[in-house]
Amino acid sequence: MPGKGLLEALRNIGESQSEFDRRVLEALREPLESGHITISRAARRAEFPARFQLVAAMNPCPCGYHGHPDGRCRCTPEQVRRYRQRLSGPLLDRIDLVLEVPALSVAELQASTGGESSAVVRERVARAWSIQQARQSMPNARLDAAGVERWCRPDAAGDALLRTAIERLGLSARAYHRILKVARTIADMNGTDNIGAPHVAEAVQSRRGPGEFT
Ligand SMILES: [Zn+2]
Repeated sequence: MPGKGLLEALRNIGESQSEFDRRVLEALREPLESGHITISRAARRAEFPARFQLVAAMNPCPCGYHGHPDGRCRCTPEQVRRYRQRLSGPLLDRIDLVLEVPALSVAELQASTGGESSAVVRERVARAWSIQQARQSMPNARLDAAGVERWCRPDAAGDALLRTAIERLGLSARAYHRILKVARTIADMNGTDNIGAPHVAEAVQSRRGPGEFT
């Protein structure tokens, strides 16, 4: 997990995702899915590579203080709902990890973090990347449906959990493949070949965020 400094920085990003025009956000769907973007002008059509990693932040409500410990948010549930709806379901479907970053109290900010250093996390990420290259010559994120079928198959318990989650949460086929890729990555980070129920559970949880976006 990133340190508190990073979490606070993410929370404080001024230009949050929901401030962009909805059409601009929706235009991200094509490159997020395919890794390229097509531009059509009159009779001409050009395709450009557009493979990128999207990291975005948004406030929890119009005033930004929803869930703050001192209860200063006065937004109505309807205002919060409308604000969050500016991110469409299909766009959210293409975002693998959705996490809530709660506000920190002064005491929490001043406490020593005791978390892992970035160097340690970097080493683990590099190791997971090497595992993926050795196994399939590409990162998990780039696997197509056939690749997911071949390399991201969970064990019986993981499969049962995933089926239950899909049914209960009404997840799409796209979400299904993305969850399996994230579960594969979590298993790689732990250095295990097997994709088990805990890996699937973490992948499903990481996708749902606080549960208010789904
Ligand atoms: Zn508010």
